[in-house]
Amino acid sequence: MPLYTDLYIDGAWRPGADGGRFAVLDPSDGSTITEVAIATEQDCIDAVEAADRAAAGWAATAPRERAEILRHAFELLREDREEIARLIVRENGKALADARAEADYATEFFRWFSEEAVRIGGDYRLSPSGDKRIVVTRQPIGVSVLITPWNFPAAMATRKIAPALAAGCTCILKPARETPLTAAHIVATLERAGVPKGVVNLVTPVPTGPAVSAMLHHPAVAKLSFTGSTEVGRVLLHEAADRVVSASMELGGNAPFVVLASADVDAAVAGAEVAKMRNGGSACTAANRFYVHRSVHDEFTTKLRDRLRDYAVGPGLDEGNRLGALVSTAERDKVAELVATAEHEGARIVLGGTPIEPGAFYPATMLLDVEHGSTITRTEIFGPVTAVVPFDDIDDAVSWANDTEYGLIAYVYGEEGEALAVAQRLDAGMVGVNRGVLSDPAAPFGGMKQSGLGREGSSEGILEFLEEKYIGLDA
Ligand code: NAD
Repeated sequence: MPLYTDLYIDGAWRPGADGGRFAVLDPSDGSTITEVAIATEQDCIDAVEAADRAAAGWAATAPRERAEILRHAFELLREDREEIARLIVRENGKALADARAEADYATEFFRWFSEEAVRIGGDYRLSPSGDKRIVVTRQPIGVSVLITPWNFPAAMATRKIAPALAAGCTCILKPARETPLTAAHIVATLERAGVPKGVVNLVTPVPTGPAVSAMLHHPAVAKLSFTGSTEVGRVLLHEAADRVVSASMELGGNAPFVVLASADVDAAVAGAEVAKMRNGGSACTAANRFYVHRSVHDEFTTKLRDRLRDYAVGPGLDEGNRLGALVSTAERDKVAELVATAEHEGARIVLGGTPIEPGAFYPATMLLDVEHGSTITRTEIFGPVTAVVPFDDIDDAVSWANDTEYGLIAYVYGEEGEALAVAQRLDAGMVGVNRGVLSDPAAPFGGMKQSGLGREGSSEGILEFLEEKYIGLDA
């Protein structure tokens, strides 16, 4: 599979205007995979203007035609599954099984939104007073800037590109600096699938801030869809405010995982393992804080520790390793520092806790006797660290679970009726009841509070790229 290392602007692959390149590293050994073109601010503006020129034509394309291009892209990506998974492992570091799961999840967004493209609804009704007919239509919002993180380099891109194209919007994708190769492969796939020139553009500016700011201040840009940290999300909301650019935000999380006294402990352990260890813990949906009822605490933690002990750590391309590298040594060091702080604040390390050199590896780690309110319960860990807080009273567990500025996802294990009652009290955009994985292209993904604005996937996802227009007709 060829590596795409240039910018894609107006239907052509080209280097950056000043010829600069940056290295993309393999986090398992620090080696350089390749060098990718640096987009200058002018390149980014060229991409916006190409998207603007293509906008009217793409918006006028029949929904069925847009759907068929997306469907074709779905089929092409499915054929490339193994190669994409390997590319994800190389630049992101995750284990191959996680990368294959991501490739499947990412590919599904093209199928899902190919099916949504032909179902954009509207409304036609008589006003209550009978004086007029109310016609509501939906039209593409316009040129969209899509910014994605490194933790799911394929899925975060397709989760934005697919609804944008289905809605009839043209776009500029700006992937994370750590993982541009997977994004470029997806863009090349769309080109092969027949996306007209200018409809999808790819830019990789370094540094990022000024170039993104220039795009958001360009009069043609109508939409920002961002996935990343809450910190950067806040900065971009300020940037978007200057021109009142519509902003969808998928931001950070701090997911609580509550195990009630009534839980089936084996099921809770299995759910905890996947909610924590999927993607090596580098997921906004990763269980971050475990609140476990004291009556099941010892059984739960012993059984979970036994499972986590089996996680072989090493280069993701080696099938034997269930835990690959973190994306960089800087990320690995952040995780190590959080664990050191937790220990300093009174937690007990009962598994792991020592970085593995060389490469950006960190082992499955378990901390017991963690206090609610300590640093690790307030910080998005983004690594394979399980921090367990015992509780006696359900009201405490609920109030601790909600005691955060984040509200992306939460998990509850217990007798279904009781767990459902707890789920209703949790401030989160998504709650798993007796389930450790929720993501599904057909379900609305998104957060409350400072975890985001808007939803991706499902039938809501396309609405983020559509604008409603009310036309009043005389009755
Ligand atoms: P990040 O916020 O550092 O970067 C995200 C993207 O923003 C990258 O493309 C980056 O280059 C770009 N960026 C960084 N600074 C910028 C600036 N000043 N102006 C414009 N763009 C800028 O996040 P990350 O470290 O790549 O990803 C991890 C974060 O993403 C975690 O907080 C995680 O929870 C979050 N995330 C959220 C979801 C979700 O759906 N809610 C999904 C995946 C990841």
